[in-house]
Amino acid sequence: MKLKTGIYWGAACGGCDVAVLDTHEKLLDIADHMEFFLWPCAMDFKYEDVKALDDDFLDIVLYNGAIRNSENEEIARLLRRKGKVMVAVGACAHIGGIPGLANFYTRDDILKRVYIDSPSTTNDEGTLPVEHWANGDEKLELPRFYNTVKTLDQVVDVDYYLPGCPPVPQQIVNALTAVWEGALPPKGSIIGAGTKTLCDECPRVKEEKMIPAIKRTHMMIPDPERCLLEQGLVCLGPVTREGCGARCIKSGVPCRGCYGPLDEVPDMGMKMLSALASVLEPKELKEIDEIVDMMVDPLRTFHRFSMAASILRRKNT
Ligand code: SF4
Ligand code: SF4
Ligand code: SF4
Repeated sequence: MKLKTGIYWGAACGGCDVAVLDTHEKLLDIADHMEFFLWPCAMDFKYEDVKALDDDFLDIVLYNGAIRNSENEEIARLLRRKGKVMVAVGACAHIGGIPGLANFYTRDDILKRVYIDSPSTTNDEGTLPVEHWANGDEKLELPRFYNTVKTLDQVVDVDYYLPGCPPVPQQIVNALTAVWEGALPPKGSIIGAGTKTLCDECPRVKEEKMIPAIKRTHMMIPDPERCLLEQGLVCLGPVTREGCGARCIKSGVPCRGCYGPLDEVPDMGMKMLSALASVLEPKELKEIDEIVDMMVDPLRTFHRFSMAASILRRKNT
């Protein structure tokens, strides 16, 4: 019997849905084992139809995207009721992802920037979106834009996490195969990724060298064989979960941490700060200050994908 499946996107870019399609001929296996009842990216459906389903009707819900507004949260709660198993797919659902970077600003900052201050906008009257609008009998309601981006498990109970921005297609196949073969690990586990750090699967040579200076990618042509971090590029490999096949590193680009932290790491950004501090060559305060000044925007570098899940996050909505 096919698994009754729902795929949904909250605050997402669509890349996680495309990653499912990127499984190419394995899509035929997926179609053999899964029957789709909703998938906004690929088929039409109505919320009313989903609401009419019995609770626990869906065998599995794959939710990608963060929780940015009240609609994202409402549908997450609805699908949690309708699905037996809820999987947070992709970095946005797992740890907030790129949308989580908006948590460095308030809701009002963002609306002002987008609707009033952005160079391509003409809005002399300073009109901003409103949640409720009425003109006589005509009424419109928009989802509430939250002050704070949240991860999926900050609003509903999540059974499994399939990390990555987006998850590697083969990892999606591996994870879905485990679902239909009934070979899932204990609730709360990461699926479709390993248990070690990205450095463990990275092919670059590590020489345990101390770093004399921090550099940015445009400032150098890195040695293609050696560890990028040891060449001064901030690479989050030491604090990121393996599973992507080191796809950025193989293209000469440092890891930004989209596969998220290992199980025992409560805050990957802070862990990276600590890891980096331990390999910096300068020991004098003045030299340390200089090297810190070489780092552009360290908070967003260390928390590129994980700000919404960070212990530093704000908790108001
Ligand atoms: S995890 Fe990446 S690919 Fe997936 S929705 Fe978020 S930004 Fe897009
Ligand atoms: S720090 Fe980056 S480049 Fe160096 S071994 Fe780890 S993943 Fe590879
Ligand atoms: S190298 Fe890092 S940022 Fe790139 S895909 Fe892998 S985990 Fe994500």
